[in-house]
Amino acid sequence: MSSNLAGRHVRTQASSIIATTIFFLVVALVLTGLTAHVVATMTRSANKIDDARATRAARAAISAFVNRLSATATDNAVWDDAYKAISSPDAVGWAYENWGKTTADYPLYDGAVVTGPDRSSIVSAYYKGKPFEPSAFFGEGFFQQINKAADAGQAPVVNFIRTETGIALIVSQAIQPFTAEGELPKLSVLSLYKDLTSEVLDTFSDEHELEGLRLAAVPESGLLNTPITDIGGGVIGHLVWPSKAPGTAVFHEVYPYVAAAVIILAMFLGGVLLVGAAEARRLRQLAQAAIFEANHDSLSGLLNRHGLLALLEESEGTDVAPPRLYLVDLDGFKAVNDAWGHAVGDDLIRIVSNALIACHPEVVAAARLGGDEFALVQIGTAARGEIEETILALFTEPFKIEGRTIEVGASIGVAACDGDVTPLELLRRADMALYRAKANGRGRAIEYDPELDRERQRVAEMEALLKSAISTGAIEAFFQPLVSAATGAITGLEALARWRTPTGNISPEIFIPLAERCGLIDALGVHMLKTSIGHAKNWPGLALSVNVSPVQLCNPEFAAEVISLLQELDFDPKRLTLEITEGVLMTNPEQARRSIDHLKQVGIKFALDDFGCGYASIGALRQFGFDRMKIDRSLVSALDQASNGADVLRATISLATALQIPVTAEGIENTRQAAILREAGCDQLQGYLIGKPMSALDISSKLQEHAA
Ligand code: C2E
Ligand code: CA
Ligand code: CA
Repeated sequence: MSSNLAGRHVRTQASSIIATTIFFLVVALVLTGLTAHVVATMTRSANKIDDARATRAARAAISAFVNRLSATATDNAVWDDAYKAISSPDAVGWAYENWGKTTADYPLYDGAVVTGPDRSSIVSAYYKGKPFEPSAFFGEGFFQQINKAADAGQAPVVNFIRTETGIALIVSQAIQPFTAEGELPKLSVLSLYKDLTSEVLDTFSDEHELEGLRLAAVPESGLLNTPITDIGGGVIGHLVWPSKAPGTAVFHEVYPYVAAAVIILAMFLGGVLLVGAAEARRLRQLAQAAIFEANHDSLSGLLNRHGLLALLEESEGTDVAPPRLYLVDLDGFKAVNDAWGHAVGDDLIRIVSNALIACHPEVVAAARLGGDEFALVQIGTAARGEIEETILALFTEPFKIEGRTIEVGASIGVAACDGDVTPLELLRRADMALYRAKANGRGRAIEYDPELDRERQRVAEMEALLKSAISTGAIEAFFQPLVSAATGAITGLEALARWRTPTGNISPEIFIPLAERCGLIDALGVHMLKTSIGHAKNWPGLALSVNVSPVQLCNPEFAAEVISLLQELDFDPKRLTLEITEGVLMTNPEQARRSIDHLKQVGIKFALDDFGCGYASIGALRQFGFDRMKIDRSLVSALDQASNGADVLRATISLATALQIPVTAEGIENTRQAAILREAGCDQLQGYLIGKPMSALDISSKLQEHAA
């Protein structure tokens, strides 16, 4: 997973944490709300249920009160003795003895009234042992009550009634024999009444659990009540009492626990919120770090390739002037790493990075794309040349790192963003130009040109052609004679690759480097070895020289491949000389030595090709165990110019021969060169003077000529 993806991933995680926390909070709040609702509903229901019970109890208390007084009235009114007495002349005295006197101190009633059969005359009326005036005391309602109760055989008439002092319960019943015989005359009526006093209400309270019960003219807010009606249905008062509110009581009891639970929940939610927020913040920071990491190079702190492309993409849609891209590749950086180690190499990268980013005000961004490859983005009007010079100027002085003096150069590829060029295409173009700059020799700047693309296209086509030429055998081996300097006899042949195409011959100077670059050199090398050995078998006694590319020698399997090929073709290894140039000895000396040692063990000889045009020393000749050296053609042709070239050549050859390394001179075109070189100590000569490279057929006929 790239860091950028990681960044995105972490950001999604952060938002999912936020979402989870919010979800959690909402759930917790909903649960709290539901719980509060449940508690409130339970409290209210418990209160309501108890209020209903209390109201029923109040009614039950009233009806018990009514029943008791009714029963007392019936006991006294439906009574043979009373009936007789009330009809007798002593009615007043009897009534007083049995009822009026009793009212003084009797729990069942407070007053007793006897009315005559005319339903209006008062026979006897006593209240608490004293006579009283019922019509004044009770008012009109009393006579309505008497009228209703005057007939025999009916249940007592019971009603609440307003009195001078308050409210009383009054019961009236006709005074009649227990068993009536025949039609009775108009009857007297006994009325008993009981004041609804606070004592009475207290007994209601005690018997029916109605604490605080009292009488009120109108219902009072906050109190429960039940109305009291008189004979006409009019409300004459209310029983009122406070609700017990058991739900509220229970609520008050559990309230501390509920409150504690709510506080704990709130604290817990607060904690969750804090932790969630902290975690989300941490993840957001991680995401930012990951995004930064995804776009930057950790060593230099510059943008990386991804960051550069993102920046170019950003500037694409804006009005700012289109950017110009400079790819800068260090020349000789690998040597710094090899010589001083990676720590110094890293230091150099950092120093160069800092210098590049600050090199010109119009350089708005810098990136490190690879080991020693940088990119600069220029936005502005400064000319390309000005920026290039500024960049190259950074490398004119050597860098100083920990007391070491380090010299590196730079090659620059430039591409301008004209028209619809995508960032990727811009990078590709600059890369193309850089490649060309390096190929043309280091330390220069090249701007992209569509011709570079066309050339690359041609190279790609050539590569394809070369590949098929190798596999179809279109590449042949030509042979150039090597002759003894002393006798002029042919002692060996050098195989040279030839590619003939319908449109003309292509020089090995072109297709060998091409094969090296595109990875075809191994196949080409094997092909050349095979074909040249195939022909050489027809020329017994002659040595065969085959050119080997440094790239081949660096392949760890090369030696084993050559040996098995020789075995396969049954060719004497002692007849074979491999010619190599010095380059490989510099770039990969270890692998070169391993391959050379391995091949020398089986008897193959090595010649150092092109000696004198590079840096190879006589010391290197001995060190790698070369069997022969070949003086480069350029030194030989230089003999024709008037200079001291001949002296240098003589000194070199005598040094080699002193070390017992035989020397071949190649490229001899005239007899004067041949004479000088023979005299200087070359034991083998090669060149157009002796023989041009020719086909195997031509070599065969030339050899026959000589033999003849
Ligand atoms: P080289 O190994 O130095 O080969 C000698 C080159 O000098 C050959 O060029 C040859 O034709 C040319 N030459 C020989 N005598 C004279 C002369 O008197 N005057 C002049 N002007 N030139 C002379 P050629 O064949 O074009 O090969 C060029 C180079 O290509 C070779 O240089 C060799 O490095 C490379 N090469 C050729 N064939 C192969 C091959 O099969 N494998 C590899 N790896 N390299 C090859
Ligand atoms: Ca050669
Ligand atoms: Ca040569």
